[in-house]
Amino acid sequence: MIEEKGVVVHPDEIGATWRESILSSDIHLLGVHPVGGKGSHERVKALAVGGLPAECQRNLNLLMSRGVGVEYELHAMSLLLPRDLFPAHPEYFRMDDQGRRNPDLNCCPSNRDALEIVAENAAALAKALPSSTHRYAFWLDDAREGTCRCRDCRSLSASDQALLLSNAVLRGIRRADPQGRESYLAYCGASEVPRRVTPEDGIYLEYAPFDRDQAVPMTHERNAASRRNARELAAFFGAGKGKVLEYFLDNSKYSGWVKPPKKLVPDPEVIARDLAFYDSLGFRTVTTFACFLGPDYEALWGKPDLGGYAVFRQR
Ligand SMILES: [Zn+2]
Repeated sequence: MIEEKGVVVHPDEIGATWRESILSSDIHLLGVHPVGGKGSHERVKALAVGGLPAECQRNLNLLMSRGVGVEYELHAMSLLLPRDLFPAHPEYFRMDDQGRRNPDLNCCPSNRDALEIVAENAAALAKALPSSTHRYAFWLDDAREGTCRCRDCRSLSASDQALLLSNAVLRGIRRADPQGRESYLAYCGASEVPRRVTPEDGIYLEYAPFDRDQAVPMTHERNAASRRNARELAAFFGAGKGKVLEYFLDNSKYSGWVKPPKKLVPDPEVIARDLAFYDSLGFRTVTTFACFLGPDYEALWGKPDLGGYAVFRQR
C-alpha cells in the first residue's frame, strides 16, 4: 500500500499555496530540490550556506512542526569532490572517452582517496541540510552520462559506478546522522540494476523514470523499458524501503525547464494507474517532482491542478 506521498519542489517555491495544500491533503513529504542541470552543485552550495528565503523557511518550519517530512534532493557530486582539486589530483576525477582525466562531471569511483573526500563532504552537507526522515538524496551530477573509463572503472556499468559513489556518500552521512540512509538514484544512465557492486546497509532505491512517456501509464507498451527497470530495481534493492520519484506534476519538465511556466494539465487516470502499478511492486513511498508550480505559476495560471495525486480532506 502507498503509505507516504510527497512533492519535490524548488526552494523558492515553498509558498503559502504549497503549505496549505500539504496541510490539507495526504501529502506528508516535502523534498527541497535546487534547480538541476549544469552548475546545480553551485545552487546546492548556495542553499547549504545561505539557506532558504526567509518566508520559505518559515513555511518549512511550520510544515515540520505539523509532522511533514522534509528531505533535500540534490545533484551534489561536484560539490562533494571539489573541482579545484583537479590540478593537484587529476587521478580523483573521471577518465573520459578520449582517455583524459576530466573534472566536468562526477569522479573516479575506484579512487579510494577521492571516495574519502566525498564521504567527508557528505558528512558536512548532512549537517548543513539535515533530513527530518533520515533519508538523504545526495546524487551524482545531473547528466545522462558521466562515467569514468579508467582501467579500474572500465568494466563497471554506469549503475555500478553510481552505487559505488552512493555507498561512499552513505558512509559520510552516517558520521553526521547514525540513522541516515542514502539514495541510489536510478535515473538516466543509472536506470538499470547494478551488476558488480552491492548496496551497503542503508542504501535505498529512488526510482526516477525520466525517460518514460508521461502521456500513458507505466503499463502501456511505450513504457516497457521503464517498467522492466522498475521491476528489476525493486527486486534488487527492495521496494518497501525505497521510493519512487515521479514526474507526474513536474511542470519544469513540461515547460522545457524554461520560464515562464506553461499551464500544467496532469492526467488523473494515468496518475491513478501508476500509483496502483508502484503499489503492486511493493513501493510504500511515492513522490513526484512538482517544480515550476510556485507563486509565479499561480500569478499566471491560478492554483495548480494536482491531477488527483493529492487527496484533500473534506473541510
Ligand atoms: Zn576510474
